[in-house]
Amino acid sequence: MTRLLIVGPQGSGKGTQGIRIAEAFGIPAISTGDVFRGAVAAGTDLGRQVKAIIEAGDLVPDELTSAIVRERLSEPDAEGGFLLDGYPRNLVQVMHLDEFLEGVDEALDAVIELDVPRDESIARIARRAAEQGRSDDTEEVIANRLAIYERETAPILDIYRTRGVVDRIDGVGTLDEITDRIIASLQARGLGRGAAA
Ligand code: AMP
Repeated sequence: MTRLLIVGPQGSGKGTQGIRIAEAFGIPAISTGDVFRGAVAAGTDLGRQVKAIIEAGDLVPDELTSAIVRERLSEPDAEGGFLLDGYPRNLVQVMHLDEFLEGVDEALDAVIELDVPRDESIARIARRAAEQGRSDDTEEVIANRLAIYERETAPILDIYRTRGVVDRIDGVGTLDEITDRIIASLQARGLGRGAAA
């Protein structure tokens, strides 16, 4: 049973690393960004509600986001643990997640902080924009998303730091190098011993 959260600015590679780590631990990677993009692509009610917000790089309302995460975490495949990517993203969402996890007598085992210099994450986002054409990867929207990260998301790390669960990982290097660093630091906490692929 391993409950993880991966945090990092846009372009830090947290989505890619999140999937790799979840695979190594045999737990689902739950990305709220993916859930919202999927809903927009499928044209569901949720998708219609969040489309303009995502395209502006703003945050979807906390109550709506937290309700979606609660539902997802209640699905059977998350019973053995999970890796959250992109949630919680501000202090209110931390409170919502705490309430939910306390209600089922659980807590996060580790928070992976991917540390990538600002210039490097901007360069990576520009590459992704060219490759994937994400509608929220335009220059103006990226600036907004990075500002929101610094203002609202980075402070959640202070809370988790006081709980002693944050592992700060150097996010510069090859994909394999970074994955290995994350797994090593989780193993040093006694998590997923022998689970490394
Ligand atoms: P991401 O792929 O994590 O960068 O998320 C893409 C977009 O989805 C964000 O820019 C937000 O508009 C929205 N989003 C994802 N996660 C959250 C969250 N926890 N709270 C609010 N909005 C979110």
